[in-house]
Amino acid sequence: MSLFACPVCQTMLTPAPRVWACENGHNFDIARQGYVNLLPVQFKHSKQPGDTPESLQARAAFLQAGHFQPLRDALQQCLEQLGPVAASLDLGCGEGYYTEALRDHSDQVIGLDIAKAAIVQAIRQSPKTMQPIQWLVASGAHLPIANKSIDRLLSFFAPLPLAELQRVLKGEGHLIVARPAANHLTSFRKALFGEIIKQDQDTSLTALGEAFQRVFLDTIDFELRLSPESLKQLLIMTPYGWKAQPERRQALIRQVETDGEWTTSASVQLSVWQGKPTL
Ligand SMILES: [Zn+2]
Repeated sequence: MSLFACPVCQTMLTPAPRVWACENGHNFDIARQGYVNLLPVQFKHSKQPGDTPESLQARAAFLQAGHFQPLRDALQQCLEQLGPVAASLDLGCGEGYYTEALRDHSDQVIGLDIAKAAIVQAIRQSPKTMQPIQWLVASGAHLPIANKSIDRLLSFFAPLPLAELQRVLKGEGHLIVARPAANHLTSFRKALFGEIIKQDQDTSLTALGEAFQRVFLDTIDFELRLSPESLKQLLIMTPYGWKAQPERRQALIRQVETDGEWTTSASVQLSVWQGKPTL
């Protein structure tokens, strides 16, 4: 059985060495880099959906420098406790920093993102000696994934399309979610806005609670020791950086260039969910 569904007609999509095809004759080529583009033009709302190349490069460099290693370690621990499964999917995987953690605990791993540039970067960074990850360019709102085929689904700072999650996750499957906690980057935000602006209420988790029950919750707190270079990357990759006034942004950069290093604290909520039993 294929894990994949045609993004156009939803029938089974059969992977093959060069072209993936469904029974209705929709074909999807495997790109030279190895990913499959399952994003039909009608789902593509902009020429370059997803992150800009600039924010993508900044995030890739920031993550590769290991600043979020404590979160990946916490994910590893969580996966060890949950045990091995057949199929895992990283939804909105970006350049695959967390996708890699799924490998040791799953026979098949899929990394999916709407941004082609992110997937290309993921392939570039992914170790070639290990069991391969299937990388897909696709929409999270219309997952090209078969019904009830996924044991484990990751959404790290990515959308939570409730109906699609319910459709693709197996009954006993787990959903692992990472979201900024209330204290995430407090001193960073204070430096940029002069005060701690209350974060927008994250309604996606509330909506999730309607169909899923939370079986695990932890807050992962860790320090970010930032060089001027990594501070600039953080400013590009977070919404706080774009929203701040340019003068404040420049002032923070100048301060960190003078001091050589700056420390702020990250705080991330890691939660695991399971589908509510249907009555
Ligand atoms: Zn089709």
